Amino acid sequence: MKLVDLKPSLRYHVHMVTSNLNTTGATGGTNGQNPRQLQGPESELAQKQAASGLSFYLHIPFCRTRCTYCDFNTYTNLGHLQGRYSIALAQEVERSLAAVAAGVYHPLKPLPTLAELGQTPKTGPVKTIFFGGGTPSLLPPAFLGKTLEAIARRADLGPGVEITIEANPGTLSLEKLRGLRQIGVNRLSFGVQTFDDPLLKSLGRTHTGAEAVEALEMARRTGFDNVNLDFIYGLPGQNLPTWQATLDRALSIRPAHLSLYGLTVEEGTMLHRQVESGKLTPTDSDTAADMYELAQDLLEKAGYIQYEISNWALRSPGDVPGTSPRLACQHNLVYWRNEPYLGCGPGAHSSFAGWRYPVMKDPDEYIRRLHANAPVVVADEAEQISREVDLADTVILALRLNEGLELARVEREFGQPLEKLFPGTLEMLSENELVEPFKGPQGEDRVRLTRHGRLVSNEVFLRFLPD
Ligand code: SF4
Repeated sequence: MKLVDLKPSLRYHVHMVTSNLNTTGATGGTNGQNPRQLQGPESELAQKQAASGLSFYLHIPFCRTRCTYCDFNTYTNLGHLQGRYSIALAQEVERSLAAVAAGVYHPLKPLPTLAELGQTPKTGPVKTIFFGGGTPSLLPPAFLGKTLEAIARRADLGPGVEITIEANPGTLSLEKLRGLRQIGVNRLSFGVQTFDDPLLKSLGRTHTGAEAVEALEMARRTGFDNVNLDFIYGLPGQNLPTWQATLDRALSIRPAHLSLYGLTVEEGTMLHRQVESGKLTPTDSDTAADMYELAQDLLEKAGYIQYEISNWALRSPGDVPGTSPRLACQHNLVYWRNEPYLGCGPGAHSSFAGWRYPVMKDPDEYIRRLHANAPVVVADEAEQISREVDLADTVILALRLNEGLELARVEREFGQPLEKLFPGTLEMLSENELVEPFKGPQGEDRVRLTRHGRLVSNEVFLRFLPD
């Protein structure tokens, strides 16, 4: 029997891991406290990481309606908060960066106010910025621009930095697209999911396939050439021919990037209830595996490079085999390379200053707390990144990529070769044709999943998890 790795989107794993609203472990406000007293190893590491380049995930928790499969931290009845929310988000980002620059940042301590910190030097270069959601394209560009301005005041935001927003077809006009370009957005990621209209309707999506194509064309007319389309396979009622029809249509419009995710039926969603009651039946795992393999074949023939388990970029001149292509999502590469990032906004997760930590989920409470100089990180759910976890993440995330894991990196960062840290594992996986060694562009030794290994990647990753 074939096993398929039905993956939800990466951002689901990274930013939307379920967290409750329990913030009782959080500390109080900063009033009367000297921010300099907060200095410690975290503050030093935060400065060092920011100096070598930082990425931002910015969560926009608003949607028009709730799709049946979605358990992201998003709300359909809070549109009235958008203005106040944009100010709060810009504040969280600016205060975080100012605290980093002043050498007083600690994930679990309250953020000092800008008045307490005063002028600070810029922290360092910005690598990437990603507005995710929710539906960021619902917001007026000027609202999103406030956060970009805040980043530019406190860090070096160069002209070439990838700035992505997630968008839903039907939420953008030519005017809005022009506004987005004006504030510096240079990449769009459209949630299309399928071109099958009845299926779109059954998922609770508010657009048709034709509207998705129109959205892409409109984006191109306003100068966006770096556009991703997201699709889901393994949907109830989907079969190989309808999946192929969706892929054929996607390829006919040649977006720069495609993300294809296997459906996961999440508890608490409408889809979960429909499946539990027997109203809908998800695609079986063999068919889902066939859909994945069909996509691999069709996209390769159409000139797309699969640079990650669920992601493909259109081949560009100068792309080097065994490296990530030019049109890869630079922001997601930061996650897969296990590099630090700062997540701001309700439910966003960070990996920064030696900690993983989420922001509280309730947007109303989030705004209130920022105004009151109270902490927004859920301290109870924060986790200091141990060496074991860091090692497992470095190996597992790198294996997801076609550029693979540079073996010397493991020795450099963890003091021992991979074979010593996981005796016999690589050999066993290699014998079973799940991973393959190869030489990188500089002749360095690397290892990555084979095509078969991608189908059963969770089986491979298990071997590198800490006990
Ligand atoms: S548009 Fe996206 S974030 Fe909003 S409900 Fe649908 S899947 Fe969830």
